[in-house]
Amino acid sequence: MSASSDTAEAKYALVTGATRGIGAAIAQRLERDGFNVIGTATTDAGAQKISAALQRGKGVCLRVDSDESVNTLMATLKADKQLPQILVNNAGITKDNLLMRMKPDEWNDIINTNLTSLYRMCKPLLRSMLKARWGRIINLSSVVGRMGNPGQTNYVSSKAAIEGFTRSLAIEIGYRGITVNAIAPGFIETDMTNELNEEQTNAMLERIPVGHLGSCNDIAGAVAFLASDDAAYITGATLPVNGGLHMI
Ligand code: NAP
Repeated sequence: MSASSDTAEAKYALVTGATRGIGAAIAQRLERDGFNVIGTATTDAGAQKISAALQRGKGVCLRVDSDESVNTLMATLKADKQLPQILVNNAGITKDNLLMRMKPDEWNDIINTNLTSLYRMCKPLLRSMLKARWGRIINLSSVVGRMGNPGQTNYVSSKAAIEGFTRSLAIEIGYRGITVNAIAPGFIETDMTNELNEEQTNAMLERIPVGHLGSCNDIAGAVAFLASDDAAYITGATLPVNGGLHMI
């Protein structure tokens, strides 16, 4: 579903973690839908890769786990009059371990990168969205946020919390035409799922009614819909995109 031309006109969309996988597909899809896309990477090389993949948009450096890095980017975007009205909080990491063996850093890094990043990223953008009386915040959760997954207490906690964050912020700012939604992907073909071994992948496929892993474009399409004017009356929702792996 494409954004209407009204929605897309001169609006900036910021996509975190746009170097590869789901984030890269989202950035390219939002650009095709007419938005001015700014994608983030943790390295200069990654930022250049994003710029090369986009026609009009660009890549910039950002670490979502750092207050300093977020503040620097926000100040630059404000100075350049490029504050986004669409924010896609896509960057996320895993550091799997059974809880009995999980080190403090494995817990803290996941919560900081996957969850605290939403506080860092959303807060500085609210004023301009409220002023514009239009905004879209789309947060990447995961199917395991509802299902649970052994070895991922840290990751699953971060994703379940993202859905609560999404609902609460949606209530706070809905009155100004700003929607806040989450997308919960199932198992999507990316670097993250390439880490699974064949046995794990086959076990997963048996549980997916449509019989295959999802593609990054499946998620990008859902983001494009939630960013569009067609989704103006949807807020606080978590949209499952999981091939039927988990139905809610
Ligand atoms: P991915 O291929 O591993 O890519 C992760 C992206 O996040 C990269 O662009 C990476 O940038 C960026 N990133 C990592 N650490 C960062 C940090 N500290 N600050 C800023 N950016 C950082 O991930 P993916 O599989 O596409 O997943 C994207 C999102 O979907 C994540 O939130 C993930 O939890 C969620 N998800 C994925 C799946 C799946 O099956 N893949 C399923 C459910 C949910 P660099 O390249 O610069 O490192």
